[in-house]
Amino acid sequence: MQFSDLPLHHALHKALDLKGLTTPTEIQQLAIPYALLGRDLIASSKTGSGKTLAFLLPAVHRVLTQAPLSRRDPRVLILAPTRELAKQVFLQLKGLLGKQSLRAALVLGGENFNDQVKALKHYPQFIVGTAGRVADHLVDKSLYLNGLELLILDEADRMLDLGFAPQLKLIDKAADHRKRQTMMFSATLDNAELHYLTKNLLKAPQRITVGSASEEHVDIEQRFILADNVTHKEALLTKIMAEKNFRQIIIFTATRADTERLSILLNEQGMHSIALSGKLTQGQRSNIMNEFSRGQQHILVTTDVASRGLDLLNVALVINFDLPKLADEYVHRVGRTGRAGNKGMAVSLVGPKDWPSYLLIKDFLQQQIEFSAIPGLSAKFKGLRPPRQIQEAPVEQNATTKQVTTTQVKPAPKRVNTMQGVEAGNLPPKRKPRAAIMPVDEEE
Ligand code: AMP
Repeated sequence: MQFSDLPLHHALHKALDLKGLTTPTEIQQLAIPYALLGRDLIASSKTGSGKTLAFLLPAVHRVLTQAPLSRRDPRVLILAPTRELAKQVFLQLKGLLGKQSLRAALVLGGENFNDQVKALKHYPQFIVGTAGRVADHLVDKSLYLNGLELLILDEADRMLDLGFAPQLKLIDKAADHRKRQTMMFSATLDNAELHYLTKNLLKAPQRITVGSASEEHVDIEQRFILADNVTHKEALLTKIMAEKNFRQIIIFTATRADTERLSILLNEQGMHSIALSGKLTQGQRSNIMNEFSRGQQHILVTTDVASRGLDLLNVALVINFDLPKLADEYVHRVGRTGRAGNKGMAVSLVGPKDWPSYLLIKDFLQQQIEFSAIPGLSAKFKGLRPPRQIQEAPVEQNATTKQVTTTQVKPAPKRVNTMQGVEAGNLPPKRKPRAAIMPVDEEE
């Protein structure tokens, strides 16, 4: 299928041509036709799969081709979990709108409320925002959603993780009419709260699954390296970064203090880096991110805060200096590399403190993980499981980094995965992504 096969407004075909986009990604091929029919949908699609255009194209098409329900209320509301992601969505939306005389407003927390009130008085047809601030405007009565035609929840699971369920319910109530179409995108659909939200916000939704969030990302080589302590991790970090000339690098740490400490350490070693710590003002954060996305900064050290919503095509290496507490956060961090078909590498340093997170991630990925070790920097730490579960494997050459030896972890004892009714240990390590469309009712 090509974009030219989709019955989209000619202005959108022109915008796609300008971007040089010809072939829809899998999620776009599956979601756009249903969205154009006005169906509610819930789609799970991994990060970087092109889901933003999957909802923006039908949304703009609708506004360009159908009469509005209301001339004053916004017609499309797109909610994102983070400011960074909302900004990325907004930029893509502006790109699609081109010279059309349509208005879009960005409504983000942490920015001037009154400026947003003024922007809302110009009756934008599109609003992109974070749930908290959009809800604030509803309470303030600076925004009404009675005429809302399309509600889009991007990364709905993440919004719930961040505690936005009450705001989402408020927004839903403010736009509660039969003609509303709702589309929900989420990396994972196995979340009880999300299930509740799906039942309440969506009408007979089409369920679209492209692969699964836990499937191995084909463009990303994932490596796990055991580490004894912070000093050992620092030695591993500098060694890995020197292995080859990576384009851009993101290092994720657990604490703000670590972002600054590591950034100073790297700078002392002549590797210029910049720390995106939570201490910075919103303006300073935006400046750093803009510099990094323009390629003016080579290495970014950050906590989880910025792991989503960054559309960075040149990140060749992601390092988890510390593992995230939640397994799906791992998927999102790793998804900052290997985007839009580029190759990427993700290296996770696993120390004693990371072990519980490592076990969660291993379960989530449902694949056997081999630990890499860097010669001269092997860890004494072999995991917190009984030692008999870990055995030294023969020295092996790694395809990308020639001086790597491996330590193999025996597969965990077979467990019954109650979610899928199969034994996790029997799953093949690599599964080809399968696309499936099924009505939600069949699943329930
Ligand atoms: P997303 O998953 O929406 O964050 O998109 C990830 C990246 O893929 C972005 O840089 C998009 O511009 C790019 N992209 C989206 N759709 C396509 C497509 N059909 N062909 C090539 N690249 C795309």
